[in-house]
Amino acid sequence: MLLTITTTANPATDLGFLLHKHPERVQEFSQSFGTATVFYPEADDRRCTAALMLEVDPIALVRSRGKGSPDFSLSQYVNDRPYAASSLLAVALGSVFRTARAGRCAARPELAGAALPLELRLPALPCRGGPDLARRLFEPLGWEVGAQALPLDDGFPEWGDSRYVRLDLRGTVRLADALNHLYVLLPVLDDGKHYWIAPDEVDKLIRAGAGWLHGHPERGLITRRYLGRRWSLARTALARLAELGDETEEQLEPAVEEDAPPEETAADEVAAAEAEAHTAPPEEVVPEEVVPEEVVKVKPLNVRRREAVLAMLAELGAVSVIDLGCGQGDLVGALLAQPRFAKVGGMDVSSMALTIAARKLRLDRMPDSRRARLTLFQGALTYTDRRLSGYDAAVLMEVIEHVDPPRLAALERVVFGHAKPGHVLVTTPNIEYNVRYEFLTGLRHPDHRFEWTRAEFAAWATGVAGRYGYQVAFEPVGEDDPEVGPPTQMGVFTRDQRS
Ligand code: SAH
Repeated sequence: MLLTITTTANPATDLGFLLHKHPERVQEFSQSFGTATVFYPEADDRRCTAALMLEVDPIALVRSRGKGSPDFSLSQYVNDRPYAASSLLAVALGSVFRTARAGRCAARPELAGAALPLELRLPALPCRGGPDLARRLFEPLGWEVGAQALPLDDGFPEWGDSRYVRLDLRGTVRLADALNHLYVLLPVLDDGKHYWIAPDEVDKLIRAGAGWLHGHPERGLITRRYLGRRWSLARTALARLAELGDETEEQLEPAVEEDAPPEETAADEVAAAEAEAHTAPPEEVVPEEVVPEEVVKVKPLNVRRREAVLAMLAELGAVSVIDLGCGQGDLVGALLAQPRFAKVGGMDVSSMALTIAARKLRLDRMPDSRRARLTLFQGALTYTDRRLSGYDAAVLMEVIEHVDPPRLAALERVVFGHAKPGHVLVTTPNIEYNVRYEFLTGLRHPDHRFEWTRAEFAAWATGVAGRYGYQVAFEPVGEDDPEVGPPTQMGVFTRDQRS
């Protein structure tokens, strides 16, 4: 089975640096199930192709399986594995190009970060779901997809198509991302992962999917198939992907142009650049004159939410603010951009989210004066933590709905009972508005444990305020629909003078 990777970047032979495999050599890598060979059928400045050829030894394949192997049958010995680009190719690709997949290239660091013109070819790929599924999986990642079902037998066209597809992908993509797309999506298309799936598969999936999987429209299918339909693992993986960002509702909104925000934060710039470089599918180009004016004015909900929170904090005169469940740090970045916020905290339970936040905020290059205003740390909102005290205001933006209802009382105690800031801003989806999202079935995000009506949120918030000595007022965020209310609801809590 064969995979070829071609670039026409100038000079194209840089591909050798990126893959850490010299274009003039033929190299063999032994795998537990056979041998992977890397060679370059063509390599000049204008065009360079690396080929990964995998020869599978069916006997070694059977032997390489652990004792816990689920079944024994003849099909273990007689199958398509030696011929088709299955999940075994993904495994070989994962190990042979490990460094390239991590996006590391000591010799040419700038190259590893750059999107390159690439063509990937897989002459025979088992594809349950046919060419159409291949398109649904690769197109949102910015690939132009050529997928053609292969006939069962060239001599007998009336027999119809086989389950194999010839796949050609073309796009301008970072090589590391391209390899990770294949690493995850080959076994997904194959849907017959034949080796025993261990819990660390979830980690592998999250790592390989970093930067693109959590925003992929077929995230659910990819996760379930990749994990061989182990539902418990798939649920864990989906929850962890969900921790990476609350972007589903933005995807439900029609694509709209955003007015330039008044102050672009560094985080915004990096996020935008990253989105463009890695994950953004090519936007449909709409000629300017046909875009209705009122549509252009609408801002994505996450931007409106951030602006509403910032405006409220300013109105309340908060000088020190902690963002609880700060996720990837977009609000933290926006707070730091305004000198009026002299002390800014960010806390999240997910180390992955914090790592991304640190990168987006460019923590390593942040000027000392700004860095000194910021404290970013890991913690759980359901455990008392002294680091949460001493702020004028705390923000819980789209966080409570990620907490299991039985744990909410612990969160209330931690935030309103112990940390006790002067103000607490809580935002959460208004489930009544969900009928306005045409394609939504169920809740807005797979990790949401609940979504509340305005009445439910008000009941919870007034209960909390009463128990902990706060007053609460409610603000709509986003278009306040006369029938179903706004997409996001915000509770603004202010501590009573006496408590
Ligand atoms: N506030 C951010 C992120 C919202 S997503 C924004 O509006 O963009 C929800 C975030 O809450 C995730 O980053 C998740 O890791 C975090 N979270 C969920 N449960 C948590 C808990 N118990 N303690 C701390 N953070 C939690």
